[in-house]
This record gives sequence, structure tokens and C-alpha cells, in this order.
Amino acid sequence: MDALYLIKLGEIGLKEGNRAAFQAALKHDIKRRLSGIKTVLEVRDGRYYLVVDPTHAPLVEYVLSRTPGVNGWARAERADKDMSAFAAIGVALMKAKAQNGAKTFKVEARRSDKGFPLDSYGIARELGAVVLESVPSLRVDVHRPDAVLHIEVREKAYLYTDGEPGPRGLPVGSGGTGLLLLSGGIDSPVAGWRMLKRGLALEALYFNAYPYTSREAWDKVRDLATVLARHSGGMVFHTAPFTDVQLAIKTGAPSDRSTLYLRACMMMAADMLAKRRSLNSLVTGESLGQVASQTAENMRFTESYTDMAVLRPLAGTDKEDTVLEAKALGSFDISILPYEDCCVLFSPKHPVLKARFDEEKAAFDALNLRPLVQAAVDAVETVALPFSFPA
Ligand code: ATP
Ligand code: MG
Repeated sequence: MDALYLIKLGEIGLKEGNRAAFQAALKHDIKRRLSGIKTVLEVRDGRYYLVVDPTHAPLVEYVLSRTPGVNGWARAERADKDMSAFAAIGVALMKAKAQNGAKTFKVEARRSDKGFPLDSYGIARELGAVVLESVPSLRVDVHRPDAVLHIEVREKAYLYTDGEPGPRGLPVGSGGTGLLLLSGGIDSPVAGWRMLKRGLALEALYFNAYPYTSREAWDKVRDLATVLARHSGGMVFHTAPFTDVQLAIKTGAPSDRSTLYLRACMMMAADMLAKRRSLNSLVTGESLGQVASQTAENMRFTESYTDMAVLRPLAGTDKEDTVLEAKALGSFDISILPYEDCCVLFSPKHPVLKARFDEEKAAFDALNLRPLVQAAVDAVETVALPFSFPA
């Protein structure tokens, strides 16, 4: 017996003009994530029907809950088109709901096979009556039921109860691929997940200051990239050795400029790598006003070292909300591990808050850091992190 999943599509259902392309992108993405197993995936009436071997159910359910573009999914039972078959399955599904505490229910019926003798109202009424009779603890509540029994009568009939939510949003890759500046903090993994949900595939870039930062700091960021890989279906993870750049800033720049200049160098390096990899944008975890380097003035300064789109999905997000998202994503517990990713040696006590654009650019450019940044980009190490299903 196969396991059948009904997948509801999110926002992609709304895009009249390019619906077909988005549907194809999501289909491709689900297939890619499940490439290790045999799947049959069909699109009908703006929904997907996915058939797999039931031994793969945990993997499939893990993947569907993390695939942007999926609005929700439900495991469905397939039935022959007659009322007694519907009743047998419907009663079994509702018995299970009642055992889990449901007191009220309703039936939602849809009939696209107009040849079926009962209309959707008739199906709902008859099926509801059988459930009431067979599961005496349940009552009908059409407004706020604890459980909903869905039935769809098409070329076959499908019965299922309330499904699980998906991430919604757009299929990964439908917006091209960007470069996420991924640090060991709380913000940047959440920023990455937000952009994945908007359809942007991602590669990640981490700036390492080894030996001033530890091997554990690198492991931590790689683990964060692995969490993202579980949501994106795999991730290319780059590490740029930035120690020489940081040392040059420490020697050459006033200490209240060091963070700002380091961020500018990161932008410059990210720009070089993104262009080399043919990516379309840069993504950071910056949030307006969170720290000194994240004022609008300082963002203007740092982003003047790239001409790419710089996406900052957390710009207007409160830290507490970011923390909640990080917990839901599964990155939070990794992010709060103690390993520093920018050595405190390099952090000034009183960083400049509002860079004066022209003066600052002249001072920064006089340091002639571009060759060092280029060398760091030339020395980038790249690993492909596969999608991994946590045991
Ligand atoms: P996060 O929690 O993401 O580390 P943060 O609040 O600590 O953010 P900053 O350390 O100022 O903020 O960094 C701002 C952004 O710059 C980060 O969100 C990230 O996108 C990028 N960034 C900072 N440090 C690094 C690094 N070592 N490697 C890659 N990107 C970095
Ligand atoms: Mg940080």
C-alpha cells in the first residue's frame, strides 16, 4: 500500500501569469529534495498528489514541512467511489481524532466528478451521519469544529483530516540565488530562512579569523549552514580567511572605525564572490539600530562597496521576534553556543555611529584594503553541505 500526500500550494496559486512556471519550480524542488526515494508527483487542479512508499513517510513529512511554496499538506486515504468505502475510512479517521480529544467535527466535501450520484452537500450529510452514529462521543459543529473530515471525489475519492502547515512563500530558486553572509549569531540564519521562503536559493559565506577565532567557531557556523541546508535542500558553504584583513584594519584604522571598515570589507568580498559565482544578491542579518554598525548611515557606507542588491530581511524586526523565529528554525541553540566569531580583540568600545560618507570613504580607501580582500576571496574554501535528514 502506498502513502499518499495531498499538498496545497501557497502564494504560487495566486500568480496568474506565471503560475505554470512556479508550479514547475515547486515540483522540481520537492523532487530534488526527495531524490533519494521513489516518488510519483502529479499536479491537478492546483494541487499536488505525492505517492511514496510508506516507510519514507517520516522523511517526506519532514521535507514537506520545510519546503517553501508548500502551504500545507495532509496524508490522505484513497477510496473507491462508493459511500460504504467512504464511511469505513471516514469513521476510522474520526475515531482516531476522538481518541486524541476531539469532541466536535464537520465534514467538508468536494466533488469534481459530476457523475457521482450525490452532490457535495449530500456526501457531507451522509458521511456525517455515519460518523455520528459510529463515534458517539463526537458532535457536529460546523463553525468551530475540533476536527474536519475532508473528502474529495474525483477520478478516485480522497479522505483526510486537518493537515500540517507548510512554510508558504515561493519555491526556492524561483528568485535566483543569493549569497548569505552567515555569522555565528542569531540573526543571519533567520535572515537566510526568510529569503529562502521568498524563493531565493542561497549560498553562504563565513568570514573566519582563525587563529583568533577557534575551530569550534567554524564548526558552529557550519552547523548553522547545515540547519539551513535542511530547509533549502542543500547548501554551498564558503569560508573566507579574513585574519589578514582584520589585522590590517587593526593596524591602519582608528579603533572606533574598525567594525565599520570590517563590514565594508565583508561587503566588498561578498560582492567579489557573488559575481564569481553568478549570484544575484547579498543577504545579511542586519537590523536597523541593533548595534553601531547597523545605523542607516553606516549601512549606506558599507553597501557602497557593492553594486549588488543587499537584502536585509530583518531590517525592521525586533530582536525578540528574531529569537522566536530562530527557535522555530532550529538554529537558536547553535547560535547561543559561546564560541566568538569575531575576536573581541577587534571590537572597539565606542564605535562610530554615523559615518560621514565622503570623509569616511576617503579614509577607508586610503588604507588600500582591496588587494587583501581579493586575496581572501581567492583563498575561499568551499564545501557542499547536502540535505541531511536528522535521525
Ligand atoms: P548575527 O546574529 O547574524 O551575527 P549580529 O547582530 O551579531 O548578527 P553583526 O555581528 O553586526 O550583527 O553582523 C551583522 C551581519 O553581518 C550579520 O547578520 C551577518 O550577515 C554579517 N556578518 C557579521 N559577521 C560575519 C562573519 N564573520 N561572517 C559572515 N557574515 C558576517
Ligand atoms: Mg554576529
